[in-house]
Amino acid sequence: DRISTASFSTFTQGKVGRVPAGLGKRRLRIVVTGGAGFVGSHLVDKLLARGNDVIVIDNFFTGRKENVVHHFGNPRFELIRHDVVEPILLEVDQIYHLACPASPVHYKYNPVKTIISFSIMFIKTNVMGTLNMLGLAKRIGARFLLTSTSEVYGDPLEHPQKETYWGNVNPIGERSCYDEGKRTAETLAMDYHRGAGVEVRIARIFNTYGPRMCLDDGRVVSNFVAQAIRKQPLTVYGDGKQTRSFQYVSDLVNGLVALMEGEHVGPFNLGNPGEFTMLELAEVVKETIDSSATIEFKPNTADDPHKRKPDIGKAKELLNWEPKISLREGLPLMVSDFQNRILNEDEGKGN
Ligand code: NAD
Ligand code: UDP
Ligand code: UDP
Repeated sequence: DRISTASFSTFTQGKVGRVPAGLGKRRLRIVVTGGAGFVGSHLVDKLLARGNDVIVIDNFFTGRKENVVHHFGNPRFELIRHDVVEPILLEVDQIYHLACPASPVHYKYNPVKTIISFSIMFIKTNVMGTLNMLGLAKRIGARFLLTSTSEVYGDPLEHPQKETYWGNVNPIGERSCYDEGKRTAETLAMDYHRGAGVEVRIARIFNTYGPRMCLDDGRVVSNFVAQAIRKQPLTVYGDGKQTRSFQYVSDLVNGLVALMEGEHVGPFNLGNPGEFTMLELAEVVKETIDSSATIEFKPNTADDPHKRKPDIGKAKELLNWEPKISLREGLPLMVSDFQNRILNEDEGKGN
């Protein structure tokens, strides 16, 4: 028996609650895998606020119950602790598939043994997890949205990156498990679309920041913001001249919903074209949090993409979507969340 009891009972509840088409208006039922994570929890907030029923599937690897705790007690919200690598039975209309161990620090800095186990986990989650969610979508006729990544472009030779660019990925590099895992997930999604008629949507997400980001996952925005609050130097890797384009999380969530609701498979770049070097980002963090913060240079990791900026022409035209919040507007919106969490951490240590 490969199907967990929790998921099976949800399946049964789902069937009982399901009203056949034509017998009255039924609320949209939506699964969000990885819904206890950073992006997922903001998506869940939006879906519940507009009246949908939401089931979160999460194994809490990088996500936290705290991110969705404000929905406990809401009868339209359900949380299942489940690893998407295992099959699951549910009855839903839409699947937002976000589950992915998305913490670069793990594959960049951990000792060899850990690198191997993280690589296996990345690839298993992206391949077997995505396969299971596509199998589920196929069986129940649900629409399926994959959150892919700008990392599929690797260290891009085209700038800014359009969806038509096939990318420049090193298949044997330190970050390849993530890049190749997501590339395979895209392949699977397209094959289920072409071969089984699954209604698929693919988003390629560019660097996103906001409240509820993991505090210590090693991403540059969370690192700089936490460092500035803790009065530690901001760690700039390499010469700091590499660029990224940073998107505020609410813009991304609006883009994901527009993509799911629209008629186009994609892939679509979802990102903010405002491009910054890491040194410029450090300056914005200093302006926002602490002008006296210092910068410490550290060696960069191998295969670090030199620049990254989305061409969002396709999303603008076909989804009528574009980001609204600039880095200078968005950064202050995550500071109080980080301050509170760092304060709680410090108090916890004192106990
Ligand atoms: P996150 O780590 O906060 O969220 C991922 C969630 O998936 C976590 O809650 C985690 O516990 C869960 N998860 C991981 N493995 C799982 C498994 N096997 N089964 C069930 N749940 C599992 O990361 P995020 O930033 O919110 O990312 C969400 C999605 O968006 C990911 O697919 C990520 O690759 C993609 N993405 C994010 C960014 C970004 O800048 N945040 C950029 C590109 C792509
Ligand atoms: N799957 C699932 N829930 C479902 C239907 C399928 O988890 O409701 C899983 C199933 O266990 C399989 C994967 O999705 O591992 C792919 O399913 P599909 O039916 O496409 O392929 P098959 O099972 O025929 O290999
Ligand atoms: N980076 C940095 N200092 C940090 C963390 C990251 O300078 O403390 C750099 C990193 O080398 C990369 C960029 O910031 O060039 C973005 O890194 P992140 O891991 O946030 O995102 P990704 O590389 O996946 O785009």
